[in-house]
Amino acid sequence: MVKLQQPKFVYMGGKLRLWDEASLHIGCEAVNRGLNVFEGIKGYWQNDGRFGVVRLSHHYERLCRSARLLHIPFNHTYEEYCSAIYELLGELLGPDRDMWARTTLFVTEGYWGENTVADLAVTAYHMDKRIPEPINLGVSTWQRSSDVSLPARIKTSTNYQVARLARIEGKALGCQDMVLLNQWGRVAEATTSCVLIVREGVIYTPHATEGALESITIDIVEAIAHSEGIKFVRRPIDRTELLVADEIALCGTLAEITLVKSIEGLPLNKKSDILVRLQNQYFQIVRGLSSHPFVGLTFVPVKCPV
Ligand code: PMP
Repeated sequence: MVKLQQPKFVYMGGKLRLWDEASLHIGCEAVNRGLNVFEGIKGYWQNDGRFGVVRLSHHYERLCRSARLLHIPFNHTYEEYCSAIYELLGELLGPDRDMWARTTLFVTEGYWGENTVADLAVTAYHMDKRIPEPINLGVSTWQRSSDVSLPARIKTSTNYQVARLARIEGKALGCQDMVLLNQWGRVAEATTSCVLIVREGVIYTPHATEGALESITIDIVEAIAHSEGIKFVRRPIDRTELLVADEIALCGTLAEITLVKSIEGLPLNKKSDILVRLQNQYFQIVRGLSSHPFVGLTFVPVKCPV
């Protein structure tokens, strides 16, 4: 599990530090009000020994957008952002496992929006090279907050309090993840990923304005679907459509494409195998076994350790 790892180094305050020395003061906004914005990025070992991070520039751009929406200054260029990540991955990468890294802007100084100062921290964790197991999915009684309360568009830790409550609720029901509905009672997203459903050979996903994060992985899935000649439509999804869907999957940087085997205790209709095919293709592409013009991999300048 990601959260149980304590890698030797983290990047913080402009340099690498030992895990035990990377701490925040209890008086700062990041601790008192959970004020931060972040990105989870995933890198995969390629067949040719290189290490490729998926759509890195898009993560940087979304981090900039989240920071702007919360009035957090972020002056790193894309090159500076990358070099912080490369420095840490250069120390931590091992030959057998992929990595997921969290790049976080913690607000370390300032008070109620005045004199705000943020620090870029990078933590990275080893990930097993495996295709995720199908899961049981539920629908939470907790709701995705609206754009005028806590916009889903902002990737900030405080947005994950409701996700945590939904996961706790799901655990009691035997569900590994939960769908959050929006203020209109329609599907917004899952706790840390977006929702894809298939009906009659067409893939549907809610638009971000339904209360979903502007997902980088959804755009990849859309591009793969288009090149396979599969129709991909963004439109509102009713709760009951989940129950009659032929297929469902969750999709995100960490969730990758996770297939759903049951929804609210009902086995899936499974009238087609579109999402399992897309899942296979996704892994082929991120591992460099086949290429797709849309899926830009950024190669970390490190040699494959032996
Ligand atoms: N929604 C939420 C709440 C998430 O945390 C994530 C993961 N970042 C996603 C959707 C999927 O976004 P992405 O594909 O950019 O990882």
